[in-house]
Order: sequence, then structure tokens, then C-alpha cells
Amino acid sequence: MQPFTYTSPRSAAEAIAAFGRAGAGASYIAGGTSLYDMMKLDVARPRHLIDVTAIEGLDGIDTDGAVLRFGALARMSDVARDARVLRDYPVLAESLSKAASQQLRNMATVGGNLLQRTRCVYFRNGTGNPSAVGVYPCNKREPGSGCAAIEGIDRGQAVLGQSAACTAVSPGDWPVALVALDASVEILGSGGSRTLRVADLYRAPGTTPHLEFALSPGEIIVAITVPKTAAGRRSTYHKIRDRESYAFALASAAVALDLAGGRVRRAHVALGGVATRPWRAEAAERMLAGQRLTAETALAAGRAALTGARAGRHNGFKIELAARTVADALMIAMERNA
Ligand SMILES: Cc1cc2nc3c(=O)[nH]c(=O)nc-3n(C[C@H](O)[C@H](O)[C@H](O)COP(=O)(O)OP(=O)(O)OC[C@H]3O[C@@H](n4cnc5c(N)ncnc54)[C@H](O)[C@@H]3O)c2cc1C
Repeated sequence: MQPFTYTSPRSAAEAIAAFGRAGAGASYIAGGTSLYDMMKLDVARPRHLIDVTAIEGLDGIDTDGAVLRFGALARMSDVARDARVLRDYPVLAESLSKAASQQLRNMATVGGNLLQRTRCVYFRNGTGNPSAVGVYPCNKREPGSGCAAIEGIDRGQAVLGQSAACTAVSPGDWPVALVALDASVEILGSGGSRTLRVADLYRAPGTTPHLEFALSPGEIIVAITVPKTAAGRRSTYHKIRDRESYAFALASAAVALDLAGGRVRRAHVALGGVATRPWRAEAAERMLAGQRLTAETALAAGRAALTGARAGRHNGFKIELAARTVADALMIAMERNA
């Protein structure tokens, strides 16, 4: 790990100014559960850390206003156990409580979660990784070096949204639930404030997979907002993984249902664990509109959610797994009391 300086500003304006002064090599840090990991693996090499956790007023949880508003510094565990979120938006609470471990959730922030980097083993194969066997090429880690995953062990890689340069999966659970519910992020930078849909925060890998987020240098996420919807009560985050706890998704589905007279008025469906970005499944949503939800229509919607999926050598199982994950999630959500 290379040496770095550390500052802990008290306001967002101070943090942005500190980032501007530090220039190249500056990085914000919040809970540190992702970034310190990357630094120890020698995958991230920041020269100046700007710790945002002392900034006041960025850790609030407000469920009383016109929208749900989560300060970027709210801890994952605090949002996951908020009584109103649990009752009215179980998809949000479950996406957080099924992520990482309790200790990590107590440290990690909901803003930092959005910007965590992929768990692709080839990407994490920096020189600091004690289990590294040589250093594999990775376009995300070293732009232009190639992608070892494409010809390598690709069991965990994406089946949706991949490019010739990168097949790495977007790892977070919470962004999948946020994308399903049309959430946005409030961003502050030296040029002022702006709002971005969470779906648009993630860039397609294309030929530049190292450029992952639609943020300019020095921009800070201050809050996440979620439109209120009656569909929130009939919602769930269904996550399938190799072990039932403390593991990233092989496939996951965030769904929320607005039902009227036994038929779907509006369905929200997004996929995790299978795509290079949190993946909104619009074809499934369209297919469900006006339908009576049965095991058959749920599975048809699950299959529609995987439209365009392409398997590599070892990850073909993910296509059927994800379709069934969506189908199961729809049935779970339907049974919930609105
Ligand atoms: C063993 C392990 C298992 C895990 N399992 C899961 C899992 O199953 N599901 C899951 O979703 N996650 C999982 N995680 C990831 C964990 O949820 C993230 O590490 C965590 O959410 C990151 O939040 P943080 O506050 O610690 O971010 P940090 O590590 O502090 O920062 C992460 C990134 O975000 C940037 N950043 C942070 N806050 C801001 C801000 N407000 N504005 C702009 N930039 C910012 C930082 O510069 C950095 O690039 C796991 C992590 C570990 C270590």
C-alpha cells in the first residue's frame, strides 16, 4: 500500500475544496469497507484520502416528506432497521440486510455502497492480494491491458450488459432495489448541485470499463431519494448466493407490485448479480402489466427479464437461475399485505 495523506473536513463545501486542492490521486472515503480493501489489494492507490464521515447532516433518514430521503452517510444497518422502511419498502430494507455482515453494515454507508467496485476476481488480483497467482490483465484495473475473465473462469461474471472489454458484475444489492424504485442521487460539486437517476449513475463498460460512475472528479453524493409508491408494501429483494449469509449475489431480483382487482397495475423489476450494472428489466415489467400473477406468468416475466442474456463458458446457469429468482420474487411480493 502506498503512503497517503488524510483529512477530515466538517462540511461538504470544505470536502469539495480539499478534493480540488489535492488534485489527481484524491479520493473520498466514508465507512472505508470497500476502499481500504481495494488499497490493501493494491487495486486502488489514492494519495489523498478525504474522510467525509465528519460532515454534519448527511446521515439523516427522512421518511415523512414527499419522497424518502437517505443521507449518503446513513449506515446500511440504520436504514435496514428503520421501522417505516421495513413496513412500507421491504425491498429496500432487505437489499441492505442481505448484504455483507452485521459488522460491515454498521460501518458502511448507503452512499459508499453505491460506489463500491466489482468483486471480479481478476480485477481484485492486484499485487497486494496474498492469494494472487501472477497478475492477470484487467481493463478495469489497468486500462488497455485486456480481460482475463473472458477466457478464464467466468462462473461469477455477467450475462447481461457485458462488452468485449469487460464482463464484471456490478456487486451491490442496494442499487438494484433503488433502480427498481426509480431512485435518484443528489450530488454536490464545485459547479453546484445536481440530481441523477441511480440508473444513470452506472456507465456501461463499453471500451472504457475503468470509467464506472457518471460522477465528475470531486463530486460528492449527499443523499439518495426514492419516490413514494404504494407498490413499496408489496415488494421484496430476493437474493440467491452460494451460501445463505455473507456472500454476494449469484442472482437477485428487486420487485415491487401495484395490484388492483387481482391484476398487476404496475410492476417494478430489477436484477442483480448477473449484469454489469444494476439492471432494470423493462421487458418483464411490460409483460406483467394487466396480467393476473400466477406461477406461469411470473416465470414468463422472469424469462423476459433475461432478454438478450449471453452466457460465457461457466456462467450459463445464471440465465435460468435469474429467471427463476425473478419469478419467485414476484410470488413473494404478491403474498405481502398492502
Ligand atoms: C466481506 C465483504 C462482503 C460484502 N458483501 C456485500 C454484499 O453481499 N452486498 C453488497 O451490496 N455489498 C457487500 N459488501 C460491500 C459493502 O456493502 C461496501 O463495502 C460498503 O457498502 C461501502 O460503503 P462504505 O461507506 O464503507 O464505502 P467506502 O469504502 O468508504 O467508499 C467506497 C467508494 O465510494 C466513494 N464514496 C463513499 N462515500 C461517498 C460519497 N458520499 N460521495 C462520493 N463518493 C463516495 C469512495 O471514494 C470509494 O470510492 C461487502 C463488503 C465486504 C468487505
